[in-house]
Amino acid sequence: MSATDEFVIAPPKQAAVAVQDDKRLFPVRRIFCVGRNYADHAREMGADPDREQPFFFCKPADAVVGDGATIHYPPQTKDLQHEVELVAAIAKGGANIARETALGHVFGYGVGIDLTRRDLQQEAKDKRRPWDWGKGFDHSAPLSALVPADRIGHPAKGRIHLAVNGQVKQDGDLDQMIWPLPDVIAFISQSMQLEAGDLIYTGTPAGVGPVLPGDVLTAEVDGVAKLTVSIRR
Ligand code: MN
Repeated sequence: MSATDEFVIAPPKQAAVAVQDDKRLFPVRRIFCVGRNYADHAREMGADPDREQPFFFCKPADAVVGDGATIHYPPQTKDLQHEVELVAAIAKGGANIARETALGHVFGYGVGIDLTRRDLQQEAKDKRRPWDWGKGFDHSAPLSALVPADRIGHPAKGRIHLAVNGQVKQDGDLDQMIWPLPDVIAFISQSMQLEAGDLIYTGTPAGVGPVLPGDVLTAEVDGVAKLTVSIRR
């Protein structure tokens, strides 16, 4: 890292994700993730889906890796797990955004995987510690190319699914979200200013499970986007 006129070390590279049929990239600012946003997944994690307000955690922007990536199995875990999620990309920021106008802030959509070191997350839950080490590690946010909303609209229903080595493990529908995207955008923007470049991972349906070195993960939201990533030792 060498200094520049402005910075004492070279500034980090801008994290970014591909946009379908566009040579330009979408620059990533922050990654917000919704916890337990599908009732059947909340139940499989031992939570009561009916009584919870949405809650959030974050991943670093450069946790994003694109379609076709090969990801090293991360250190310090024996239980890496997949969570397939619809991802919304924010084009226009704001505070206290109303549900009714929330979708007007969205650039487009992709399908992502919220990779999770489940054993570290569980340990954090047990010890009442933050989730960062279980959720926000390197390359923990695979994401397809984004598709602009002006091309596909704003998907609120449709099949969301993930297969490991061709075997379907998660198979849900976007209409099963407890808090749909307009609510999620409203909630986040009540707590902090949402900004252009922010990504929102909107939660996962049931069927989360382990990923091993050598596995190929294929994720899709029908009519929106597809993503394939490989895991290696
Ligand atoms: Mn998740």
